[in-house]
Amino acid sequence: MADDESRISRFLTTLSKPFKRKSSPTPTMPLWTSGIQEPVMAQGITIPALYAVSTECLILRTVLSKLRQEMFRRGYYWEKAFHQKCTECGEEFQHEVQQCNICESPVRKPDADEMVYAKWLLKQENSMEQQFMHVLHEIENDLNIVDDAFLLFVKEYYIDPESKEVSFYRVKELIRGDPIFMRIVADKRGVRGGRYKTCLIHRDQVKTHAEDNTCEICGSDLQDVHYVNMAGSGKTQYFVEGEVIHVSKYNPSKLYGRSPVNTMWRQAMTLTAMDNYMYTAYQKRRMPKGIISVTTDNLESMKSFWKSVDEKMERDPHYIPKVGIESSTGRGGVNWIKFMDTLEEMQYMAVRDEIRNRIAAYYGVSSIFMVDNGKSGGLNNEGLQILVTNRAVEFGQKIYTDMLFPKILKQMGVFDWKLTLYPNEEEDEITRLRRDEQELNVAQRMAQLGFVPELIDGDSSNDIKFVYRKPEPQEQQGAPPPGGAPPGGMPPGGMPPGGGRMPPGMPMGGGMPMPMGGAPMMRGMPPGMPQGTMPMPPSQPGGEGMGIRNRGPAAPQRRTSPGSGAPVTSVQQRGPPQSLGQQNVNALQNARRFRGA
Ligand SMILES: [Zn+2]
Ligand SMILES: [Zn+2]
Repeated sequence: MADDESRISRFLTTLSKPFKRKSSPTPTMPLWTSGIQEPVMAQGITIPALYAVSTECLILRTVLSKLRQEMFRRGYYWEKAFHQKCTECGEEFQHEVQQCNICESPVRKPDADEMVYAKWLLKQENSMEQQFMHVLHEIENDLNIVDDAFLLFVKEYYIDPESKEVSFYRVKELIRGDPIFMRIVADKRGVRGGRYKTCLIHRDQVKTHAEDNTCEICGSDLQDVHYVNMAGSGKTQYFVEGEVIHVSKYNPSKLYGRSPVNTMWRQAMTLTAMDNYMYTAYQKRRMPKGIISVTTDNLESMKSFWKSVDEKMERDPHYIPKVGIESSTGRGGVNWIKFMDTLEEMQYMAVRDEIRNRIAAYYGVSSIFMVDNGKSGGLNNEGLQILVTNRAVEFGQKIYTDMLFPKILKQMGVFDWKLTLYPNEEEDEITRLRRDEQELNVAQRMAQLGFVPELIDGDSSNDIKFVYRKPEPQEQQGAPPPGGAPPGGMPPGGMPPGGGRMPPGMPMGGGMPMPMGGAPMMRGMPPGMPQGTMPMPPSQPGGEGMGIRNRGPAAPQRRTSPGSGAPVTSVQQRGPPQSLGQQNVNALQNARRFRGA
């Protein structure tokens, strides 16, 4: 990608040589002044208050930490950004090619040396003894609370002894910047920088853009300041471009995001107040349970009455005040006035549940994770709720894999490799098998079209992936005739032709509509799996109407021998010798399944 950018920027530079350049205006935002920008906070709530309520409110904290745990539970892995890349035009190919399809230049594989340093660095702890994943946890927390996260690169600049200028740098460590103190420097359009300049070597040399462009001490050019840290009182730290990454998750904008906790402030505070109320009610009972009043005409005694109530409550929390009010008419009555409502009367639980669900819904954390599965029944419901969370996790992980990680790698000069977070486990087995199955189906079809699929190994993700290449001429003899063998990707034991009787002992999810005509059944599924949602494999590929058997493999009940010790699929396989592609497919299928399952 870097080659690509530099190529284009080189082109643009040469293009503009004889010309003057003018741009159309970037819209200014009159509310902003040039310089350090402040994030907008609704209801006058400050950022420290947002953090305070996120740690104080149990439900909010539960939601936040569950989401975080799910996202990073399985760590990260390195991945090739491409399979091959054109050395000239930079086009990336995910499959095997001899030369670039576009410009016919030679192609290259990802450069393994490139990631050596980055790989090492991410395994190191930073100077706060934090591992990379811990920093990511902090970043994620910031994103979920204030929707702004700052990742600081502590860079080591190497200064040329001759010219006294920076010749190169390395990223020494990664540290989270505190959103309470980190600020974006931008001009009135929101364009980064444009206000302060600093010297890379002498950071206390800060000038505004009105002043000249050289360091007083070393005379080198000053760099534009993009971010500041205002934590040190009066000692603002200035960061130039490439030293700080800022991301927003929920509301990305030209400057700051908008805090979700700010939006759910009232709900979170209500929950806190409710918890306080509960706590006080159970622990101290500061409120009298009620009072007894006697109606009289004389109200003077009321003043001294409340005073004494306060005193007596101090000594005995269960004290019930009694007051007599004199009545000259002699009429009156005794009333019991209750102060403290019971929790049921206040619909305490209902309100609490409602607020909790709202908060959880915003973050996409389903109730199952909050150990509230009392209300949801059935496996299907559970699956659905976990799916919702998977989406939240997927969305959250995209912020890293698509935005943050590429920016990190760019600072370390890695362009051929990708950092990716493992999807959380709940998406797990079934979804992954489905994906694998689709991939195998594609591979099969490609094989039938005459391509040779080859399994990509060394891919750290668990997914099955193939590259396809055109077979060499001598290999082509071995290629299967279209529609030949029963597909290896299909589990054997399809419905018997005619679709009448069920094979005995076949686990079936209740109520699954059975398509007639021998749709292959999923095998090895535990009973009760929601089979209705499984993607139907394509109908027998290739050979329909060709006079070749295309109804899938022989039915298991017609089997004469148990196929002692034979690998699963080969028991019932007949037909021409299998191609390389099909052998791949079979081997994978067998490895995934227990023998005889
Ligand atoms: Zn090319
Ligand atoms: Zn300097």
